[in-house]
Amino acid sequence: MDNAIKDFIIPVFIPHAGCPNQCVFCNQNTLTGKQRIIPPKEELNHIITEYLKHKGKNRGRVQIGFYGGNFLGLGIDKIEKLLFAAAKYVTNGLVDSIRFSTRPDTIDNNKLDFLNNFPVSTIELGVQSMDDAVLAAAKRGHTSSDTINAVSLIKKRKFETGLQMMIGLPGDDEKRSIHTAQLIAELLPDFVRIYPTVVLAGSPLAVLYKKGKYVPLSLEEGVSITKKAYLVFRENNIRVIRMGLQATEDLREGISILAGPYHPAFGHLVYSEIFLDNIIGVLQSESILTGEIIIRIHPKSVSELRGLKNGNISKIKKLFDVKSVRVIPDSSLPAGGFGVDANS
Ligand code: SF4
Repeated sequence: MDNAIKDFIIPVFIPHAGCPNQCVFCNQNTLTGKQRIIPPKEELNHIITEYLKHKGKNRGRVQIGFYGGNFLGLGIDKIEKLLFAAAKYVTNGLVDSIRFSTRPDTIDNNKLDFLNNFPVSTIELGVQSMDDAVLAAAKRGHTSSDTINAVSLIKKRKFETGLQMMIGLPGDDEKRSIHTAQLIAELLPDFVRIYPTVVLAGSPLAVLYKKGKYVPLSLEEGVSITKKAYLVFRENNIRVIRMGLQATEDLREGISILAGPYHPAFGHLVYSEIFLDNIIGVLQSESILTGEIIIRIHPKSVSELRGLKNGNISKIKKLFDVKSVRVIPDSSLPAGGFGVDANS
């Protein structure tokens, strides 16, 4: 379903650097024992040059992304050093631009003015929730009004704006998550990421989890709520560039997950469930289904339609009590589109 050409992002981790506090779900340092490490220039150059060797064809923009900390919470001298080192790659044409993630409460006009000196194109905000009680329970230390204010300042400067939301935080539920998605959509970001909360070893949440004071979502619940949030964004024509943690961009090497709705192909699970819902909707309008169901679909969407281990096919067979479900790739259909023929 997501057929856009993807940016090639070179992630540079600055674990917990610039963080004013410890958010309950976060631990960027698990196992490594490193604290607030900013890579020195040599390491930064090494990371970037190594990553560039793996840039495949048909990629979108090449960007250096500073992740894992609160970028604008760093002192201005540190921000300058990192941006200066990264900007060199933009000047020599190997990289198109710079991006970073930061907290909503670090955005102000002075910092945005300062960024004008560098080829920064994209700012991602860790919004997490638009519910102040959920933000407080997550010990974020900012409110939803900080996010509204930050987005307005960023958009005035024409930076590409990305907003990250989480589901399954302490005190959160499906209704609150969908409301967060709706409020984020109203802010008209250029893109969003949706992260289900997982219990990272060494995080404050791990302590609550071990004491039985936090119960993570199951994978099924995580997929279902993420799907509903995704549909809010899709209805508002807002790109969702990531659902679920991704090993290379979101998790530093050595970080371990104790519990929660983690799956390496989380986004795939969400898209599969959407296909299943849509196909069930179409089949329910058929009066009698006894024979074979034939589903024609764009070749790129076949695996999402089938679901993991053909799970969608089995569910359709069971639900409609039919002998077989045949999937026929059909490149005349648009990506994500499908047609159903039901023989009775
Ligand atoms: S979520 Fe962001 S601000 Fe909070 S501790 Fe982690 S890196 Fe720092």
